[in-house]
Amino acid sequence: MTKDGLTAEELFRLPHGLAYNDFIILPGYIDFTPDEVNLESQLTRNIRIKRPLISSPMDTVTESSMAIALALLGGIGIIHYNNTIEEQVKEVRKVKRFENGFIAEPLVLSPEHTIRDIDCIKEKYGFSGIPITMDGKLYSKLVGIVTNRDIDFETDRSKKLKDVMTRDLITAQHGVTLVEANEILKKSKKGKLPIVDEKGNLVALMSRNDLLKNREFPFASKDAHKRLMVGACIGTKAEDRERLDELVKASVDVVVIDSAQGNSIFQIEMIQYIKKEYPSLDVIGGNVVTEEQCRNLIKAGVDALRIGMGPGSICTTQTTMAVGRPQASAVYRCGKFARQYGIPVIADGGIANIGHIAKALSIGASTTMMGSMFAGTSEAPGEYFYENGVRLKKYRGMASLEAMEKGGSKRYFAEESKIKVAQGVSGAVLDKGSMLDYVPYLVQGLKHSFQDMGIRDISLLHEKLYSGELRFELRSLSAQIEGGVHDMYSYKEPKYM
Ligand code: IMP
Repeated sequence: MTKDGLTAEELFRLPHGLAYNDFIILPGYIDFTPDEVNLESQLTRNIRIKRPLISSPMDTVTESSMAIALALLGGIGIIHYNNTIEEQVKEVRKVKRFENGFIAEPLVLSPEHTIRDIDCIKEKYGFSGIPITMDGKLYSKLVGIVTNRDIDFETDRSKKLKDVMTRDLITAQHGVTLVEANEILKKSKKGKLPIVDEKGNLVALMSRNDLLKNREFPFASKDAHKRLMVGACIGTKAEDRERLDELVKASVDVVVIDSAQGNSIFQIEMIQYIKKEYPSLDVIGGNVVTEEQCRNLIKAGVDALRIGMGPGSICTTQTTMAVGRPQASAVYRCGKFARQYGIPVIADGGIANIGHIAKALSIGASTTMMGSMFAGTSEAPGEYFYENGVRLKKYRGMASLEAMEKGGSKRYFAEESKIKVAQGVSGAVLDKGSMLDYVPYLVQGLKHSFQDMGIRDISLLHEKLYSGELRFELRSLSAQIEGGVHDMYSYKEPKYM
């Protein structure tokens, strides 16, 4: 009996390249609930994560806040390198040092500051309860704390903090567990608990408000020492070897060699160098979109491949350079090829909704990398701003003229060029709220998608993909229109898609 629909091989053998919107997955048989779906997947040959979600190494997407949130939720963030080595390493360290419930870098003032300084902090960040150290810095001797209660009724706002601060402090020693610190906070009925080292220097802070918000993160991506996992980007220049050394010292878990066209002698030499110097460090190579490109990087020793040339939301590469590949075709061809060598592939760019994540996984990606999906969250770098009453955040391509001016042309071999040709744009995306709410929504959506496919996990999905059991169909343009919302007078879009 011939089966309904097409196998992926039949679908992608068609003469034109396909994007995610060009095909649909046919439904399977359901005999389980969405909660039984397991989204664990291989990030690289050696690293497994619980959620197949990665944030792009872009300066408007991934620094430590994003990487911490995503690792807590089971994915991983890749810290961008449009910065100095010191700056990038600092971001990696912040992730590695992160302890759930502790504020590792609290705002600190000195006894010489005034109440007005606290007012400013309160206005800008919306909180009070500021620890006071000898010189107003972290890792210096804790001498007091100023809370609302100390300053609420004080009319003279120029008064120095040394005259109003509470000196009688309840503190906890560095090394205290979250549970122990929580207990001290509860018993003391205080709002803040300073954490000090054996010399009485302030090293962190715990907050009662955060305590109430504290959640468990059972799917967090952690290393063997129970620290959150984080990746970082490097280029292929001589100076990137120094960057690499410093990142390794900071305990980075995986490095991504960032290049828009990864099939180059520069990247191959870099992969070989890393494998020789740091054989246990996993390396993600790319970007690639053809089997031949994959072959070269696999031969050089990569542990995963990043797939995509031109599908990104901010990207103008295919228009300007006329080189690239429609993303679904690229993911399928590269995924199938790399599988023979046990190398997982990352579908990078062009993902605009939960359905695209599901489709990328269904055609062979082990994980997905996203920029625009995450750029509007509160954990992405940058401040929100308003345009026509809409709350937005900036999002820009690393090859936009704006990012290149700051040094972001590294992945395009364009650093030395006098005339810079943009391969990306700079713009804004909608406010998405916190990753802590957004990612669980994506995950739940994905689980429903897997249930509709009748498949419980990603490795089973790939088995059925390559055995031909998973069936697909092309979508005509009118099928795509039919598949979206249509014929409505008006409607309200859900907050997330
Ligand atoms: P998005 O998820 O569709 O927004 O695409 C993000 C991906 O686009 C990144 O992970 C990069 O691979 C790629 N990218 C980043 N900056 C640029 C650019 O300026 N031009 C082209 N592609 C870019």
